[in-house]
Amino acid sequence: MTALPVGGPELPQRRNLVTEIPGPASRALMDRRNSTVARGVSTTLPVFITAAGGGVLLDADGNSLIDFGSGIAVTSVGNAAAAVVDRVQAQVAQFTHTCFMVTPYAGYVEVCEALAKHTPGTHAKRSALFNSGAEAVENAIKIARHYTGRQAVVAFDHAYHGRTNLTMALTAKNMPYKQGFGPFASEIYRVPMAYPLRWPDGPEACRAEALSVVKSLIHAQVGEQNVAAVIIEPIQGEGGFIVPPDGFLTGLADFCKENGIVFIADEIQSGFCRTGDWFASEHEGVVPDLVTTAKGIAGGLPLAAVTGRAEIMDAVHPGGLGGTYGGNPVACAAALGSIETMESQDLAGKARRIGEIMVPRLRKLAETHPAIADVRGRGAMIAIELTKPGTLEPDPASTAAVAAYCHAHGLLVLTCGTFGNVLRFLPPLVIGEDLLEEGLGILEDAFASL
Ligand SMILES: *Cc1c(COP(=O)(O)O)cnc(C)c1O
Repeated sequence: MTALPVGGPELPQRRNLVTEIPGPASRALMDRRNSTVARGVSTTLPVFITAAGGGVLLDADGNSLIDFGSGIAVTSVGNAAAAVVDRVQAQVAQFTHTCFMVTPYAGYVEVCEALAKHTPGTHAKRSALFNSGAEAVENAIKIARHYTGRQAVVAFDHAYHGRTNLTMALTAKNMPYKQGFGPFASEIYRVPMAYPLRWPDGPEACRAEALSVVKSLIHAQVGEQNVAAVIIEPIQGEGGFIVPPDGFLTGLADFCKENGIVFIADEIQSGFCRTGDWFASEHEGVVPDLVTTAKGIAGGLPLAAVTGRAEIMDAVHPGGLGGTYGGNPVACAAALGSIETMESQDLAGKARRIGEIMVPRLRKLAETHPAIADVRGRGAMIAIELTKPGTLEPDPASTAAVAAYCHAHGLLVLTCGTFGNVLRFLPPLVIGEDLLEEGLGILEDAFASL
């Protein structure tokens, strides 16, 4: 075996294809994978990665691909970012685990301090750390129920909150997330999302009506007094990067406040500088009662958090929250390195700059390709939705064809959306502008090839 390649920002920042995609080494690994890894765990692009950093992924055949996925909005600071690697290496050499519930350590506290500093609002806050986004969402619901003494939880069409039992119930889409996995948790109520493109009478009607539709459904079908929490992604992720019209989130937060309902912003995908602010809620000055975070928080190590108003968080009795690995010291070290990088390199500003480059080029592309029905998102969380030209009928086949073209030409893109007809772009926030432009060029070629 040859020496292992080193990743991180030093990795040459260029696209370079030396074999077809996937190449022979990846195909051989895929064969081994298929005879040992469960079929239910799927793969978007079957190239096996050996190193990654900045805006590129290096595979087992020596191909270097442009990364517009960040491992699903995780490696916002770049893979193997210097501050993450340094802190993780130091921590691993010191100690790897004690269990914070048995004997604590400073890193956990420091992450909670950073969360208090960067999450929206200046009120007193508390945080609890977990391993995955789904676990954070589960705990946010537990906390909201305990605090309010109520049980009902309101979630939205197109929502994605995870794959555990409670979070599957909160997630809207059946295939692949829920099919055959019931029964699901009870006391979950679903209301329409303010989805401008697909609102019955269009975007203007969406802006005018969505909030009152949601409020009247909650009133008529659940009863405000029974609702523990309303949970919403400020920009929906897996559901299709759906951005509600201005006023919807603020109105929803006000409604919750008036009715003693805990307003939970699930910022697991939209948080940590992705949308050009530290959190997407900030765009309109929304201050959620609880915020769930994960993905971008720790540069790729598994960490998640619930952060919220001290009186809500502290309503839970000692011992009521926790988990063996929650806030693992190595993951906390990674989070501190990641947050430090976001601060020192102004990655929120970088995200805005990425949006400024991407959106005009995508809008121009949409002018010549009527399959692109919508260009939306904010900062470095951008998507295009594909339909049969002149209609709202989703076009998942063209979406898959564009993604396949990009993959074959060394650009990793991801799809999403309830109807599988959305291409989403989540580049690492440290990606170079040349690579970003080159990736957009490949995407343009992909549409030309349709
Ligand atoms: C990914 C995601 C989750 C689930 O996070 P996991 O770490 O995969 O459990 C929950 N909510 C949102 C908005 C997400 O994007």
